[in-house]
Formats: sequence, structure tokens, C-alpha cells
Amino acid sequence: MGKKAIILDLDNTIYPVSAIGDKLFKTLFTLIEEKGEYKGNLEEIKSRIMRQPFQVVANDFSFSEQLVAECLQLLSALTYEDKMEPYEGYETLRSFPCKKYLVTTGFTRLQYSKIKQLGIGNDYEVIFVVDPSQSELTKKDIFQKILAEHQYTPDEVLVVGDDPHSEIKAAKELGIETVLYNHNREQPELNDQKTIHSFKEITPYLN
Ligand SMILES: [Mg+2]
Repeated sequence: MGKKAIILDLDNTIYPVSAIGDKLFKTLFTLIEEKGEYKGNLEEIKSRIMRQPFQVVANDFSFSEQLVAECLQLLSALTYEDKMEPYEGYETLRSFPCKKYLVTTGFTRLQYSKIKQLGIGNDYEVIFVVDPSQSELTKKDIFQKILAEHQYTPDEVLVVGDDPHSEIKAAKELGIETVLYNHNREQPELNDQKTIHSFKEITPYLN
């Protein structure tokens, strides 16, 4: 049956963080390098910060309490003010006549500045920023809230994102169908996981 609603992730699903990451995180990476209060490889930390919430990376690489505090202070004030482009193929999604919800994890100010630079704010019924520095809420909580408020059954909704351990996992736990957006084929592709590499391929999963 046709989907009534699609719930999307932002980072690495609508645009590639790698396109802005070095510039965006320059001051953060300098701070981490200069402080040096972490365990592990700096290049690995940088690449993980472009893919996962800061708090997860800080924990995995044993950042000191002081370093975490300084990074959080910097990140909560950070915005991105240069032009950004969605992935090629986004138009296919934009023009599809179902309700769209954006659910993204990150720092509130930064996520909204990126949404503004991408020019996509009007494409969504509601935008939710899950900000672990401000709230305990998870993506799963927000998905449940969307279903309850709009009286969608799980099979009327599709969740699309690039992270099997975040939005894809949360959706599966709620019985919502998922599509993995694997633009650069960075995630291993499994037979039982529907996968696309461009939004040009999304139509069959919405019909
Ligand atoms: Mg993502």
C-alpha cells in the first residue's frame, strides 16, 4: 500500500557532511588536537564526528570531562552559514506527494542553520532536532510521537536514513519499514535491508 508519510534523517541522508565537515569542524578539531585528552586515533575521531553524534564519539574515544565540556560549549554555539546543496536526486523526494517529517540528531542551532542553507525547511510538515545536550529524547521517541499525533499505523510510514544503528534501528523496533540511504556504499548491504543510493530510486518504496 502507498505510504502516507516519510520520515527522513538529515546528515549524510539529504546532503553529505564531508562536503562541509572540514570547514565546519575546523575549530573543534583544532581544540581536540591541542588538548589531546582522548584515547585513539585523531583521524578516526574526525571521520566519526562527521557520521555520529558528538557524545557517542567522545565516549568511545574516552574524551576527558574537561575536553567534553569545552567541545560542547563550542558545538552548541556553532552554525554553518555557507551555501549547501542536497544530494542529486532530492527533487524526486521533494515532489513526491506524501507528508514528510525531518528527524535529525545534533546541536539545535547547527542543525537549523544547515536546514536553512539547504533551503529545505518548507518541504517538511515538522522538523524535530533531537539534541542530546538538551534532552533525553531519542529518535525512537519522536517516531512514536509522529505516529501517535497523526494516527499513522507503522505500515503507513517509511523511515529513510544512512545509519543502521540510529534511525533504521529505531524504526525497526517500532515495526516501521526502512530504507537505508547508502550514497557512498559505506554501509555493508544486507539482503533483508532495502537500500537506495539516490532518491531517484525511492519511488517503489513509497507506492
Ligand atoms: Mg545521518
